Amino acid sequence: MAGAVSGCIFCQIAGASTSTALLHSDEKVLAFQDINPSASRHYLVIPKEHIPTVKDLTKCQDDYALVSHMLDVGKSLLGRDAPSSKQYRFGFHQPPLNSVNHLHLHCLALPYTPRWRCLKYTSLGPFGGFIEAEKLLQRLKL
Ligand SMILES: [Zn+2]
Ligand SMILES: [Zn+2]
Repeated sequence: MAGAVSGCIFCQIAGASTSTALLHSDEKVLAFQDINPSASRHYLVIPKEHIPTVKDLTKCQDDYALVSHMLDVGKSLLGRDAPSSKQYRFGFHQPPLNSVNHLHLHCLALPYTPRWRCLKYTSLGPFGGFIEAEKLLQRLKL
């Protein structure tokens, strides 16, 4: 796969060199379950292209369209698989609090399991932490 970074687990998934079951795959993105789920449903949506973190996204049409597509995919998967959830959460960890350096959208259908996991998905305001997808989209919008 063009642009794949060796040693990047998500590039390996995108290159189909793992046995990860895909929930969704198209030209630009793919989705799979988080291996260490924090909620009743917890999916990740990643771009096929290796983009390290939200800091590598810029205010431009392409990046806006990509994130907005990732969010659409996440919403439709959770709408399909967790239709009775009362609350959903979609967002990204900002460095240095991100775990894998390949952009990934966390898609959660709450409640959190166990409950303290909510701390991982809390915005720390100016200090970073978790950024909701909608907020990132506002930042990328031209
Ligand atoms: Zn990668
Ligand atoms: Zn993460």
